[in-house]
Amino acid sequence: MAKNPSTYRGRLAPSPTGHLHLGHARTFWLAAERARPAGGPLLLRHDDLDAIRFRLDFVAAMLEDLHWLGFTWTEPVISQSDRLPLYRSALARLHAAGRIFPCTRTRRDVLEALSAPHEPAAPATDDEPVYPPQFRPPADAPLPPLDLNVNWRLRVPDGETLTFIDNCLGPQSATAGHDFGDFLVWRKDGVPSYQLACAVDDADLLITEVVRGADLVKSTFRQLLIFRALGAPAPQFYHAPLMLDATGTRLAKRHEALSLRTVREQGTTPEQLIEQFRRREIKSA
Ligand code: GLU
Repeated sequence: MAKNPSTYRGRLAPSPTGHLHLGHARTFWLAAERARPAGGPLLLRHDDLDAIRFRLDFVAAMLEDLHWLGFTWTEPVISQSDRLPLYRSALARLHAAGRIFPCTRTRRDVLEALSAPHEPAAPATDDEPVYPPQFRPPADAPLPPLDLNVNWRLRVPDGETLTFIDNCLGPQSATAGHDFGDFLVWRKDGVPSYQLACAVDDADLLITEVVRGADLVKSTFRQLLIFRALGAPAPQFYHAPLMLDATGTRLAKRHEALSLRTVREQGTTPEQLIEQFRRREIKSA
């Protein structure tokens, strides 16, 4: 089949808050496997907006580990911390369109409201709890001016079922207001949430397929709402099943033993590791 080298654009978007582990490495390898036959570039973006957990030495370590694994970049490496004006202008557009509202509730307020005995049980989510509808201002309430030192949430279309076909997992669906609620797009410390920054970047960088871990499927539904609200076409998605450690627990940056660094230090070669990924010898969920 003829390939069109100009269409595919993928990206890797690690957060420099720890050493890359084998799960990241396998997802990144899969991303490269998707991009290569399509003849498209794979961009590298540092998701470095978490000022508390971000460390410059993790950026350096990540670049070195990725280089060891065989990655090189022809396009400039992107850092979200350099792109704040872009996120501010996206927030201003959401504000002008009346899609967001300011939120002064704390996470604790939200959790307490959800556990109140007279409230219907909200479905538990693995990431952000469903925002209690009673905290949301009425849709026709006047919107205060945009203040970047306030938390802002996107008002989700309650009851609407969103769907997409995942290129790895197949058809996916989730209902707004049930599986996820009004979610944070901006934090009062002056930075966008992961959801806003990621969707704005994927749209701005003309990414055609996002390859990432299956733990982010729910985030994808939120990001689909952001693409829609900003009038940007959504990319396609390929969510890779997560890797588990020997006890069946999902890999995380705290699993230093399974970091790419440690595996390297133990003498594994990139070729051996990639062969394991190819043969799926490392257990996945
Ligand atoms: N930076 C995010 C993370 O490491 C990934 C974001 C993404 O691929 O969309 O979890």
